Amino acid sequence: MKIRDILKQNNKGVAFEFFPPKSDKGRAALIRTIKSLKVSKPFYASMTCGAGGTTQEITQDAVSLLLEEQELEIVPHLTCLDLSPEKLKDLLDDYKSKGIDNIMALRGDPPEGISNFNFLNQDFSYAVDLVKSIKEYGHFCIGVAVYPEGHIEALSLDDDLEYAKQKIDAGADFAVSQMFFDNSHYYKLLDRMQKKGIDIPVLPGILPLTDISKVKQFASICHTTIPKHIEETMASFAGKPQEQEEAGINFTIKQCQDLIKNGVGNIHFFTLNKPRIIKTILEAI
Ligand code: FAD
Repeated sequence: MKIRDILKQNNKGVAFEFFPPKSDKGRAALIRTIKSLKVSKPFYASMTCGAGGTTQEITQDAVSLLLEEQELEIVPHLTCLDLSPEKLKDLLDDYKSKGIDNIMALRGDPPEGISNFNFLNQDFSYAVDLVKSIKEYGHFCIGVAVYPEGHIEALSLDDDLEYAKQKIDAGADFAVSQMFFDNSHYYKLLDRMQKKGIDIPVLPGILPLTDISKVKQFASICHTTIPKHIEETMASFAGKPQEQEEAGINFTIKQCQDLIKNGVGNIHFFTLNKPRIIKTILEAI
């Protein structure tokens, strides 16, 4: 079923993002994770592509694993990296034949270790190019990424929003935000989108805060700020990983509660394939 139709019917729910495993041990862990999170009846489970040196084939393989869990709506991520029009058609044919109705269309990050990588030399330079081709192919409901604090390469928030609008005008049906730790950035993004006449669902992307040093590293790459009071609280538990994790989870619970209080019904969790933390958060909210 298409996510845009699911979102019309459900105004309260969760979606989970997973990353594809690279080993048999990782595959077994992913199956356990899915089984344990499936009870929350997510309205979709998405599978990343390309991050951490994985390939499209590894994503396809992980998607097949998820498909064995029948009741899940799967959303494979697709990136521009090393993608030709022929490969895109093969991928879409494969996903369509497996009963998949939704795709998350992304440009992707440059490959690790190549600082001067130029996306303009690719067949698909920006996510919008991918959206146009998937739309032309037909069948799929398309999701795209948006950035509450602006994408790291964008010259301004206005520029970034203009490019986001191009993706939506080209046919994107829904969007998922980059992680944020200060909800005001997300509310302002919704405001700015509304003023620009953009009217598609924008799910907040929530990363549970656990290990502050890892989150800080990730946040700096993603152009996400961590509020000072959170950083200080987390730092006060340095050397006490359990206490730090507990404080982080409590923060994420409050963050989700604030979203719900402000009328946000659907939340997309970046699970990092860790069910225990997600379950704790869901139970609390
Ligand atoms: P785009 O929308 O193409 O934007 C990229 C940059 O180019 C932006 O700065 C934008 O402002 C600018 N831009 C856009 N169009 C134009 C134009 N026509 N001319 C000039 N500038 C332009 N990465 C992965 O590798 N794999 C994943 O599975 C993955 N999943 C993600 C899931 C979510 C929910 C999010 C938020 C991000 C995800 N990412 C993933 C990261 C994403 O690929 C990176 O942030 C990437 O750098 C940008 O992708 P995009 O699709 O937003 O690109």
